[in-house]
Amino acid sequence: MGKTKYIFVTGGVSSSLGKGIISSSLAKLFVARGFSAAIQKLDPYINVDPGTLNPYEHGECYVTLDGAETDLDLGHYERFSNSATSQDNNITTGRIYQNVINKERRGDYLGETVQVIPHITDEIKRSIKALGQRGKYDFVITEIGGTVGDIESLPYIETVRQMRWEMGRSTAVVHLTLVPYLSAAGELKTKPTQHSVKMLQEQGVQPDVIVCRTEHHLTDSLRRKISLFCNVAPTSVIESIDVDTIYDVPIMMRKEKLDVEVLKRLDMETTKKPDLTNWEKFLKRLKNPKNTVQIGLVGKYVELQDAYKSINESLVHASAENECKVEIKLIHSEELNDKNMQQLLDGLDGILVAPGFGDRGIDGKILAARFARENNIPFLGICLGMQCAVVEFGRNVLGYSDAHSTEMDPATSYPVIDLMENQKKVCDKGGTMRLGAYPCRIRKSSKVFNVYNKQNIRERHRHRYEFNNNFKERFEKAGMIPSGINPKDNLVEIIELKDHPWFVGVQFHPEYQSTVAEPHPLFVHFVKAAMQSKIKRGLTS
Ligand code: GLN
Repeated sequence: MGKTKYIFVTGGVSSSLGKGIISSSLAKLFVARGFSAAIQKLDPYINVDPGTLNPYEHGECYVTLDGAETDLDLGHYERFSNSATSQDNNITTGRIYQNVINKERRGDYLGETVQVIPHITDEIKRSIKALGQRGKYDFVITEIGGTVGDIESLPYIETVRQMRWEMGRSTAVVHLTLVPYLSAAGELKTKPTQHSVKMLQEQGVQPDVIVCRTEHHLTDSLRRKISLFCNVAPTSVIESIDVDTIYDVPIMMRKEKLDVEVLKRLDMETTKKPDLTNWEKFLKRLKNPKNTVQIGLVGKYVELQDAYKSINESLVHASAENECKVEIKLIHSEELNDKNMQQLLDGLDGILVAPGFGDRGIDGKILAARFARENNIPFLGICLGMQCAVVEFGRNVLGYSDAHSTEMDPATSYPVIDLMENQKKVCDKGGTMRLGAYPCRIRKSSKVFNVYNKQNIRERHRHRYEFNNNFKERFEKAGMIPSGINPKDNLVEIIELKDHPWFVGVQFHPEYQSTVAEPHPLFVHFVKAAMQSKIKRGLTS
């Protein structure tokens, strides 16, 4: 392996152009050429991590194996590249300043005035190079959050300028912009791209490759125009047209030669071709389903596209694996009640109750678990979704009328879900949950054993509350089986129903571990159970 090369991905004109998907696709193409690549996201906000942000602000919070609460783009990185990310792969301005201020308090700066340049930019540089210095990666791809021109991204762009100056052709900059189509004029417009590149140049950074997000194909003359005004080769103007699925993007980028253009800038070999055979097989299965199922996703953030990102993508992976189209019916848990339950849930082939925090919409989630249990509908409850299934079983099977989680009702006489002992003294909200990967041992005689086909698993967590072990025996006797247990501290990680075709609740988050190369078995089997349920009901799947 040669020296690590650093690639920066910046964005202009608008947010939500898909920098994360372009970065992930580039990493995928490098890996498909036999290189190793790490991806990192730098977020210019002041929260130390996104763990304290609600989904309205920033979509889903993704959790890494080592327990970092991170930006959802890291989920794309893992799903595309099938390799784990860590704390070092997501850095925010809050963390950068926290590190610098801690150093200042320790006296590390020996009396210097601590300033944005060089101290903050040095800290950003240190965070970027930390990944390269692990000696494992040919490429570190660093995505800079936000848009060029934002006040808060200035120190990051300045860091890119300095690293370009210091490391020259060991660095490359890919700038993603929007080429809008004005229907009144019937034309694609390059001016926003010119302006955003100019802004980048004013900050001392000349991009090497420009990726143009567009709804219509770029003509050659338009590519030449962008090339001329923005100082890049015409071949380095890359089209990124809207596609059916994000999983088409690596294929499209290979066709557009994004990887080749970046490698050229880095003076690297470009003759080899990236091998995407398995990826293409996945796409073929995804796009040619033999069956269809409808899964109800019950949550309080269903109107937000990004709130349950990893769950949606895990269902896509399971869909390809089963060659079965998964239609997701979004059900707002706040709107679900006794009166409309039949109308909203009847006919579904599977019900998934989502993770979450707090009281809002909790009754709808509990109701959905009950409907699935009583009507033999395949059920997957994730984290809070599992806790709701436990509460529901306590109330309606065991007769504990006010059973609840103490998160919602601290005064309940049946605290079937309760705060972990070591959480009781916790005051700070940031980074203090049970986070990251923990082991779980699966009972051999259980149904989930057939899902995983092994006894010892590791899954990622993000919660404070737990199944209350004081109730374990009573639940088991009544038919709710604790089929997965943490071998160290005896916490219940998985529950399942004995007398039900497929009813599983997990305290952990399987959705953080599903990738294109390795779809998560729980989602695969959940979709399979939904297909079987449809057949059993006399409906062809
Ligand atoms: N609010 C619950 C807890 O803290 C569940 C969290 C979740 O669903 N991620 O335990």
